[in-house]
Amino acid sequence: MIEIRGHHLLCAVTFTGRGYSRRFERDFRRVVARMNDNEEMVIVAGPDAICASVKDCAGSHCHEERIVARDRAALAEISALTGRVLDVGSRLMPHDLFNARHRKAFDDGTIRAACTDCQWADLCDRIAEDGFHAALLDTR
Ligand code: SF4
Repeated sequence: MIEIRGHHLLCAVTFTGRGYSRRFERDFRRVVARMNDNEEMVIVAGPDAICASVKDCAGSHCHEERIVARDRAALAEISALTGRVLDVGSRLMPHDLFNARHRKAFDDGTIRAACTDCQWADLCDRIAEDGFHAALLDTR
């Protein structure tokens, strides 16, 4: 079971192997590989399987309100998109979520409120504009 926080349901879509550190990139790659194998995901509050490599988790931005607010924003917009209420504890299959509709909504900004002020936003914009060709996540 992949533990995933709300806004990482967006970050996974544009992950190309780049991240905060080598270790973070390695762990994120492993999570994406599990998603591509369609391992079930469960929504968690706060740090998740992708955050696991952050050494000083308690002192990182992972617990800050602005980051938790990203989780709420992402879950609200993805819930509206899918017609299924997603919250902490919800379980879902990667292949049911990461599809062309999800990518289109990412690309047109429908589910990007969580990305406001994110340092990676320009990079994620470019990846989406380029048709997600560089992304490691499979899309159905
Ligand atoms: S802009 Fe930031 S929050 Fe949005 S998908 Fe990219 S990395 Fe994630």
